[in-house]
Amino acid sequence: MVVVPRCYFVLGKRPERVELHGFSDASEHAYAAVLYLRTRYSDKSVSMRLVASKTKVAPLKKQTIPQLELLGALILARLTKVVQGLISNLNGQFFWVDSMTALCWIRNDKVWKQYVQHRVDEIRQLSDRELWRHCSGRLNPADFPSRGSMASELIDQVLWWQGPHFLRESTTNWPTIEVYDLNHEAQMEMVKNITPITLSLVSTSSTFVCQSIKELIDCKKYGGLNRLLRVTSYVTRFIKKCRKQTNSFEPFISHSEMNQSELLWIKSIQRSFFAREIQYFRSCSGPCPLLVKQYGLFLDNQEVLRCKGRLNNSSLCLLSKNPAILPHDDYFVKLLVLWAHQNVKHSGVADTLTYLRERFWILKGCQVVRRVVKSCTVCRKLEGPSYSSVTAPDLPNERVSDQPPFTTHTGVDFAGSLYISEKNVSEKVYICLYSNIYGLFTCASTRANHLELTPNMGVDSFLLAIRRFSSRRGLPATLMCDNAKTFQSSEN
Ligand SMILES: [Zn+2]
Repeated sequence: MVVVPRCYFVLGKRPERVELHGFSDASEHAYAAVLYLRTRYSDKSVSMRLVASKTKVAPLKKQTIPQLELLGALILARLTKVVQGLISNLNGQFFWVDSMTALCWIRNDKVWKQYVQHRVDEIRQLSDRELWRHCSGRLNPADFPSRGSMASELIDQVLWWQGPHFLRESTTNWPTIEVYDLNHEAQMEMVKNITPITLSLVSTSSTFVCQSIKELIDCKKYGGLNRLLRVTSYVTRFIKKCRKQTNSFEPFISHSEMNQSELLWIKSIQRSFFAREIQYFRSCSGPCPLLVKQYGLFLDNQEVLRCKGRLNNSSLCLLSKNPAILPHDDYFVKLLVLWAHQNVKHSGVADTLTYLRERFWILKGCQVVRRVVKSCTVCRKLEGPSYSSVTAPDLPNERVSDQPPFTTHTGVDFAGSLYISEKNVSEKVYICLYSNIYGLFTCASTRANHLELTPNMGVDSFLLAIRRFSSRRGLPATLMCDNAKTFQSSEN
């Protein structure tokens, strides 16, 4: 009989220090973690209690023992995270593993291959890497669940119920290894020849962001305008932080930041496509460019190139009266048109264009919008032609042969259930149906069917039915059926 005390502490004593000690181990069949509560009392005595353990079978995909040890360490870190939330007066925690390779992966700052790195990252997120230590396999209680152990063997194992003996002694007697050098197995998982990625933002003027956002962010990597603007907002936040312009940001991107990002993109595109027009306004000299005359262009106080239009006396808002001019062959413009098209609920070219012209004037706008709408998946699904049916192929030989019924190719299947009444007694039956072709009721040549009543769909009933059928019609050359269990079993 095993007696497990329900209280984690020794009654009548005052706990001075409470620690959580976790052990993990792995074998090629399973990996496991076990947790103990170590309590030191005011009279310097120490008690150990088994708190929780977890075991998992090893993945089917073949893995090395150190990799399995790492998986063990991972479930130990997860288990500890859960348990530590339940114990309020915890003073410390320690993690013990017997694999130097796994320990080396957890404690070293090298870059490991993806499989190891992902698990190491999670372990470091859940626990402090400095708390991971080495103990010998002989003293590791997690060895029992990882190897698999019968209850009868486990009953007498003090190591399992109370943890290793060194934990009952003072901390000076605990095993210590200070050097976690890379061994051969650890090095196998190390990423060699890491290409350093260096990004530098060099700026000499305060208008750096406005001029080069297009060069800083490749908008072709984004499929939607909102996503691009959010990323732009984060980039500008980063730049502002680097320049120490501001340090306080809300946790989420605000509406004004999104508007600011949109303005940056519009200005950046105008600078690359309408450089001549902008230069004309800045220098106030030289011949007037054609676009300026055609659209009455002017630079507003935010340095955005806008069309003058003829609606200045209307009650429209300023942005609608003087829309910003944009080129037709830019990816950002495509994103803008797509965004407008989605905002008008895929309503069509005219509505999309009207919605866009509330704020922007896109050169050859009708052409651009038509192109975007034409490539819109949602619109194509709704407005595309229906799928035309394929031409029916020639019928197979067996369906056009003029042999007598049930001599060449015969199909068989069950139908039902039906009720028949005989002498005022109703009975449930099934029909075993033989058709002269492959399939039911669709005979191309003779349309002949043969019905056999069976009390059930069992193998015996089917074998009797086939015997009656063959006695009456003769055996067919081939008998085709679906893969029902009755047919499969009767083959044997
Ligand atoms: Zn659409």
